[in-house]
Amino acid sequence: MDSRVMYQISYGLYVLTAKEGGKDNGCIVNTVTQVTSSPNRITVAVNKQNYTHDMILRSGMFNVSVLAQSAPFDLFRNFGYQSGLTADKFQQVPFVRMNNGIARLSEHATACFSGRVVSATDLGTHTLFLADVTDGELLCDEEPVTYAYYQKNIKPAPAPTKKTGWRCRICGYIYEGETLPPDFVCPVCKHGAEDFEKL
Ligand code: FE
Repeated sequence: MDSRVMYQISYGLYVLTAKEGGKDNGCIVNTVTQVTSSPNRITVAVNKQNYTHDMILRSGMFNVSVLAQSAPFDLFRNFGYQSGLTADKFQQVPFVRMNNGIARLSEHATACFSGRVVSATDLGTHTLFLADVTDGELLCDEEPVTYAYYQKNIKPAPAPTKKTGWRCRICGYIYEGETLPPDFVCPVCKHGAEDFEKL
């Protein structure tokens, strides 16, 4: 099967935030979906390699900031390309706290809402959290950013390269070498070998 068929599914992009003890953290996800309206429930699948994942698993709470089209690449890099284990992702990002005490973005977000975890399903690489929406705010009139818009208008074009290797279609990371191991996982965005293309 051509793995690109999966890129035909439309997604939004979100900053998923959590708090544990005195620590704030967050990551970028494209997997927030409302699954029922009565009760108002959402699911979000989170890669287990994200520190935010562990914080949500233990605390049972999170916030979602819906990213706007104006969100600059630096914001994606801040939340998506480094680990909250070693970095303070809120050092240079303006935020406020919602009623649950967890941060949400105060710029480049069209809306935000809070989730309280109802169940956590182990999907192997990810955990699927089902959550009650307990709070929410509309923040501005901008359009929410879609994954397609991000790929086309926000992510920098890949630099020309003479290297032989494989490029991650998701984030642009380059693996140098003739053969990509089938179990290879992108160190930046955590996607697998099926999302790499040969240079
Ligand atoms: Fe990647």
